Amino acid sequence: MKDPDCIFCKIVRGEIPCAEVYATSRVLAFMDIGPVIKGHTLVIPKEHYPTLLDIPNDLGEELLDAIKRVGRGVMEATNAAGLNVGMNNHAAAGQVVFHAHFHVVPRFPDDGFKLWPPGKYDDMEEMERLAAAIRQQIK
Ligand code: AMP
Ligand code: ZN
Repeated sequence: MKDPDCIFCKIVRGEIPCAEVYATSRVLAFMDIGPVIKGHTLVIPKEHYPTLLDIPNDLGEELLDAIKRVGRGVMEATNAAGLNVGMNNHAAAGQVVFHAHFHVVPRFPDDGFKLWPPGKYDDMEEMERLAAAIRQQIK
């Protein structure tokens, strides 16, 4: 799953600069250059995996630990009141850089950033049908 042109792989290899905030042997965290809110940080596996679904489970604990450490650091440093951790997977979900990355975004009361606008099902039956379909597909 290598991609020689991947911008985040280039950051990992030190070929293009980043404002690094945390690193382990397998994980890197650095500032997002286009922050939705100032302090917005990205946490990535150093190895190239395109989406969350490609990340091996044995990296999960190290990644979660990094997200929590970085999340606390971002909150403390920006004096944030809250924190969003999010991820876009595949183009249809808004993914632009196809090297898996977690967005860690500090939140403030009335910061104006809106995500997850609620929708609704036609009826509860529709929701139950989808739940059943999803249950069947979970392996
Ligand atoms: P996504 O839409 O989830 O793929 O998000 C990609 C993110 O990467 C965006 O928030 C960009 O601002 C950010 N980004 C792109 N290039 C760089 C870079 N060289 N250094 C830091 N962040 C970057
Ligand atoms: Zn990559």
